[in-house]
Amino acid sequence: MRPTNPTLSRLILCLFFCVGASPSEAGIRTIAARGSTYVPLNNIAPYYNMQLTQAGSKRMRLKNRWHILEFETNSRRCWLNGTLLWLNNPMRKTGWQWAIEDADFEKLVDPALRPYAFLKNLSAQIVVLDPGHGGKDIGAKSPRKVYEKLLVMDVAKRVRNLLKARGLTVRLTRDGDQTLSLSERTKRAARWNADLFISLHADSATKTAEGAGTFILSLPNGYSTHGYGKGKPPATKHPGNRFDSANAVLGFRIQQNLIKATRQKDRGVKRARFQVLREAPCPAALVEMAFITNPKEEALVIQASHRAKIARGIADGIAAYLNDVKRSKK
Ligand SMILES: [Zn+2]
Repeated sequence: MRPTNPTLSRLILCLFFCVGASPSEAGIRTIAARGSTYVPLNNIAPYYNMQLTQAGSKRMRLKNRWHILEFETNSRRCWLNGTLLWLNNPMRKTGWQWAIEDADFEKLVDPALRPYAFLKNLSAQIVVLDPGHGGKDIGAKSPRKVYEKLLVMDVAKRVRNLLKARGLTVRLTRDGDQTLSLSERTKRAARWNADLFISLHADSATKTAEGAGTFILSLPNGYSTHGYGKGKPPATKHPGNRFDSANAVLGFRIQQNLIKATRQKDRGVKRARFQVLREAPCPAALVEMAFITNPKEEALVIQASHRAKIARGIADGIAAYLNDVKRSKK
């Protein structure tokens, strides 16, 4: 019998054409709602052999022997093994189940959880570090006159030393205090056949803003983390978008290790359309290592011992990513 109830018709249509009709690359069933495609948490859980439980009033937790993945209800925040990852769109209740958008699953959560599945065609030898600003462009300046351009150069050299000790080839886009355009930075990375590109920065804002964060390129049609809900996000596919999955792995590895080494506030893996990320010829991330306008963090970065911790965190993150690339070949 042909259903006449419009809700019932829609439901039946949905069962035929939506559930499982466009499975994500990982083969997980998706559902269509509100003009988007969603992946329900209770479809993600069995895929990773995880148990799904409610953790407090606002959190859903997926857990197996190796990983804990947590989502906040009606929020863009999610945590993998305690590291904050910003989703493009909030986790929402879709019908009776909590679900995240397809793009957030495919281009962020899944690569962070199964890096080896996304890095097969990439290399792991040449690292290009990009100390931000330089020369006439001093970058941010703290009340006690910590210059961003000098701070990030100090950290870049420390990261270089740590990675060279691991047998990697490391180049800096600038190795002195010279002015360098943004486009020249990524051109140099391309010329040197970079396998990954890390731009190093420090932030400035209010006196109370604090913590370290790692930016990766926004997805085509996806919001930048700080631009959420403002207009329609651009659909442009930039050269850096060729590496969306690898960018997610790299961002996660750096942020995870940076926070572990420094114990600073975790501001998470975020997305932005920064020029160096758009034009990167390889997987890329931009690290904002601290807020030098916050007296507490200014006092930290003045200490060489803390700069050494920042450098160790970044170097460990790079090494973890490169290890993921090597594992993907097995
Ligand atoms: Zn900067």
